Amino acid sequence: MSLPYRTLERRWDVIVAGGGTAGAVAGIAAARTGARVLVVEAQGSLGGTGTNAWVTPLMRNVSGGQNLNRGLTEEIKARLRERGDGAIDPGGNDNWFNPEGLKFVLDDLLHEAGAEVLFHTQVVAPLLDKEQITSLVVHNKGGLQALNASVFIDATGDADIAAGAGVPCHGGDEQGLHQAMSLRFTLAGVDTARLCAFLKAHGQPQASAEFLHFWMVWDRNSSLEPLFRRAVEQGVLLERDGDYFQAFSVPGRPGELSFNCPRIRPDLHDGTDPWQLSEAQVDGRQAITRLTAFCQVFLPGCEDAFVGVVAPMVGVRETRRIQGDYTLSVTDILDCARFEDSICRNHYPVDIHSVKGGAKLLHEREGQAPYFAPDAWHEIPYRCIVPQGVQNLLVPGRAASSTFEAQSSIRVQQNCHSMGEAAGIAAAWAAYDHHGRVRDVNVRVLQDEIRRRGGVV
Ligand SMILES: Cc1cc2nc3c(=O)[nH]c(=O)nc-3n(C[C@H](O)[C@H](O)[C@H](O)COP(=O)(O)OP(=O)(O)OC[C@H]3O[C@@H](n4cnc5c(N)ncnc54)[C@H](O)[C@@H]3O)c2cc1C
Repeated sequence: MSLPYRTLERRWDVIVAGGGTAGAVAGIAAARTGARVLVVEAQGSLGGTGTNAWVTPLMRNVSGGQNLNRGLTEEIKARLRERGDGAIDPGGNDNWFNPEGLKFVLDDLLHEAGAEVLFHTQVVAPLLDKEQITSLVVHNKGGLQALNASVFIDATGDADIAAGAGVPCHGGDEQGLHQAMSLRFTLAGVDTARLCAFLKAHGQPQASAEFLHFWMVWDRNSSLEPLFRRAVEQGVLLERDGDYFQAFSVPGRPGELSFNCPRIRPDLHDGTDPWQLSEAQVDGRQAITRLTAFCQVFLPGCEDAFVGVVAPMVGVRETRRIQGDYTLSVTDILDCARFEDSICRNHYPVDIHSVKGGAKLLHEREGQAPYFAPDAWHEIPYRCIVPQGVQNLLVPGRAASSTFEAQSSIRVQQNCHSMGEAAGIAAAWAAYDHHGRVRDVNVRVLQDEIRRRGGVV
């Protein structure tokens, strides 16, 4: 790198790049393992897509009646409920949460574990000595600095560090098309009791006015489709606004709904392209204006609704995926594959938000759906977070080594928590005992430690 940077004298055992869904948890887990940890985060709060892209609720990952993600993810949910920012619905689903509350919970957990965090700091590039990363060059208001550590965790979601270190990466489907991005927002000032009554009377069953969930996708037999069709005919909505529409209640925010939309224009699908990301913000805000008008006019209870939150980050579902020591495939998922080095169990299905339209939930193969037996699950091996060509780097989260289809299944937040927790423990051990070499970590012992912390492996 030819630009001048200053190398800080301090040194950490583990630096986590990106304090998002996987990264915040990785930082907490590594610090609880005794490592000196620094989390470097581009935004001003932890949680990533789960906070700054406002992605709520956690998708359920249950098999045989049990949550497959436990350990730190359960601790986070319990803390959210203590604050009134998490809730369990009448059906026993404990995944409802308020993204703003999650920021506070993660601050507390990271601080209590003894880790440090550097906000408003972008990792620019890794520096390498052969196959070892020696430091990360970061940029913030202090200029360019190099930060040293023994082990690094790339939890940027985009594999920024891995790609910079020369790890082979893949992205998108066979045509290079990534999953659609979305700019999430909320509407506040909603009369949820009236809206609930309307939805129940119009083919969208609801548990209660506190736990609303409703949706519309063209040609999926949604009872709301005729309303969308009328809104398009009247010029309130564009056709593409009905490609995916979904809304949820948010605990701790009465009268407010979180929308898992709008989808961004299909030609803007690469979340690693800064120009596309910028255009996506504007495209998303324009769509939010249309969707707000639609709700005010067509959904009883929303007449006085107003935009509460526009997520600071565009929601990015998939960009780079590393080439790891193992690549998880859709065959592994549908075969309910087990691995000796498992670090996480998953039951969430293949869920592709395609820019070609619609959403693909892959439930079956040749008419059979063994993966959807209520007690089915597959495993994610440690090797999926170990990138090729670098010795002291782990990559948990949505950039873990997987095919396009498999990534769409394992990317949900609680799996990112579980991968992050495993990565944090392993990174701390690699820093003390193995000169940073993450492949030398004894995965059997790691599995015992994950279980001791309440996890399921
Ligand atoms: C629109 C949308 C809807 C979704 N719906 C659901 C859902 O309902 N439920 C569910 O469970 N999952 C859902 N998901 C999936 C899930 O939220 C994500 O896959 C998951 O949160 C990704 O976690 P991560 O840790 O890999 O990345 P992130 O949580 O995105 O974390 C990456 C972090 O790294 C930081 N960062 C990035 N680059 C740098 C850099 N160079 N330097 C410093 N910091 C950097 C970012 O600011 C961010 O904080 C959805 C995703 C999207 C986008």
